[in-house]
Amino acid sequence: MTTPCIITVAITGSLPQKSDNPAVPISIAEQIESTHEAFEAVATLVHAHVRKDDGSPTSDPELFGRLVEGLKKHCPGIIIQLSTGGRSGSGRERGGMIPLRPDMCSLSTGSCNFPTRVYENSPDLVDWLASEMVVHNVKPEIEAFDLSMIFKAVEMQRAGKIKGPLHVQFVMGVKNAMPVDREVFEFYVTTLKRLAPEATWTGAGIGRDQITLNRWSLELGGHCRTGLEDNVRLDRDTLAPSNAALVQRITEMTEAYHRHPATVAEARQLLRLTA
Ligand SMILES: [Zn+2]
Repeated sequence: MTTPCIITVAITGSLPQKSDNPAVPISIAEQIESTHEAFEAVATLVHAHVRKDDGSPTSDPELFGRLVEGLKKHCPGIIIQLSTGGRSGSGRERGGMIPLRPDMCSLSTGSCNFPTRVYENSPDLVDWLASEMVVHNVKPEIEAFDLSMIFKAVEMQRAGKIKGPLHVQFVMGVKNAMPVDREVFEFYVTTLKRLAPEATWTGAGIGRDQITLNRWSLELGGHCRTGLEDNVRLDRDTLAPSNAALVQRITEMTEAYHRHPATVAEARQLLRLTA
């Protein structure tokens, strides 16, 4: 049997607003509801940011705490991953939610350009975020926006700064960072396999290329990420009605690649997370 596919749903992000798509969940109640629908469409990992009432991003641990509590109650077993991304705060406030001990937190292991700014992850900050994750037993998801970030993650794991097998997300299609490119994608996959044979990986594409990366990941044995954070449309003319609809389109594709969506138990086993 082929490896089950863990479907990650990135429900909110820090950028999309209701004006982009009314289905983007902003309040904690909306986020829990939207995740629950996606969970029923067999998403087993939720990647979450939180927003203030006005829709702007924040790293407020209190809001993250309310979200985690609701997700545990309404989506039993779902893998909860909180963002330490740089649009929601600066410096160490980006890691203020790590002591909540979610299953996972995102961790970028280098800097790059984003559409209108520098995505700044200084070596000191990366080390500090990683050390907080070790202290609180939180598994990082490495956000690799280019090749050097994969090497950095491997180096950190070998130095004991990251525990257990690596889980890396290859992100393609963020303007000014790595574009969507099949040869580079395959090189990412083979490089990770060569340097860290036990590592797991997910492909994430932005906008209309979300589905491109979904297909490539299914084909090459990786895991898939979808959700309104990265893309608000089903196609050029149609807004995605929900996060669940984006999850559903992966679920429907799995069979063609002789894969199946992971159950919660399978996803936790693949990522070596305890229940
Ligand atoms: Zn995110």
